[in-house]
Amino acid sequence: MVTMELLEYEAKAILRSCFIPTPAGTVVFSGDTIPSAPIVLKSQVHTGGRGKLGGVRVVKSGDTRQIAKDLFALSIKDEFPKTLLAEELLDIKNEYYLSLQVNRSEGTIELIAHREGGIEVESHQPSEFFRHELSPELSAAVGDSIADYFELPEKSFILQDLLQILYDCFVKSDALLLEINPLVLTSDDKLVAGDCKMTLDADAGFRHPEWNFEQMATSANFVTLSRNGTVATIANGAGLAMATVDAVKAVGHEPANFLDIGGGATVEGIVKSFRSILDFPNVNAIIINIFGGIVRCDDVAAAIIEARKQFPNLPSLYVRLSGNRSAEAADLLAEVGLALYPDLTACLQELTHE
Ligand code: GDP
Ligand code: MN
Repeated sequence: MVTMELLEYEAKAILRSCFIPTPAGTVVFSGDTIPSAPIVLKSQVHTGGRGKLGGVRVVKSGDTRQIAKDLFALSIKDEFPKTLLAEELLDIKNEYYLSLQVNRSEGTIELIAHREGGIEVESHQPSEFFRHELSPELSAAVGDSIADYFELPEKSFILQDLLQILYDCFVKSDALLLEINPLVLTSDDKLVAGDCKMTLDADAGFRHPEWNFEQMATSANFVTLSRNGTVATIANGAGLAMATVDAVKAVGHEPANFLDIGGGATVEGIVKSFRSILDFPNVNAIIINIFGGIVRCDDVAAAIIEARKQFPNLPSLYVRLSGNRSAEAADLLAEVGLALYPDLTACLQELTHE
């Protein structure tokens, strides 16, 4: 089974859309303005255990910019964050562990909890966790029993409500795992999702056109070929993407990446690809080679225009768009003074002459 691992801010956006309380926060890219203290700055990487590895920094006062810089430079289990989450500080009274998981052998959704959550949760034996099999219509007793277990009897109704919402959110999102650790009890007695890890069933992607996660820009369809490469490529279809990389190499340039934007490419997704390309220090040209069948060339054109707006330091673009809505794309790009090349050879000739 193919899985989609979400970053904390992506998972929390889903929680928020289901009206589950999360701390107020903003996502920052390197170079963005960092909100000032007091805040908590959290490295957005796909591995857990960031707290123990220095990836979560509570900044009560002082220079948040320097700490953000340190976090961008800190790899966590071989992954550098592309983004940080800057959140309001929570005044924590207690931390609980709460998760919903697909139990594959039983074919059920299971609630697993621990009254001592937080970064040490893995030190508990599996037998010490509270476990409960959930059904679509949660019995009213679940709220009571988890409230008893957490020793929060007065929170029984709230926990019942929270579990029902989490269950519905889990099913609707095609999730395999939804883990809130810590579920924070604040000093003013509110329950807030302090952290969230979510794994989705990637095979269900066809019914989620709204999915647009960092993993999609950095996984199978985006492959780093050379950190020091000078020419980046954006193409559609694995075959055309490989041919584009080969052609760059054949004329004596070092391709930085392989990227197949796929048939379901969205403007936002393509803009994200540009952002990934900007991580390569030596890229001075981007070849965009699209043969639009399902993918719409005018979407690609809109993404190019948006990327030029968002990233003033974008390298030179060599664009070939043909097929589905290429005339509309040419019109859009002409408006911003960007001409199209008739084919890849023309792109490469121009690139090599410069
Ligand atoms: P993880 O280590 O990757 O699971 O990262 P978490 O987001 O769970 O953060 C780890 C720990 O940092 C939490 O268990 C908290 O103890 C602490 N922490 C996170 N956010 C805050 C905050 O807003 N205030 C305070 N005081 N501690 C926080
Ligand atoms: Mn956590």
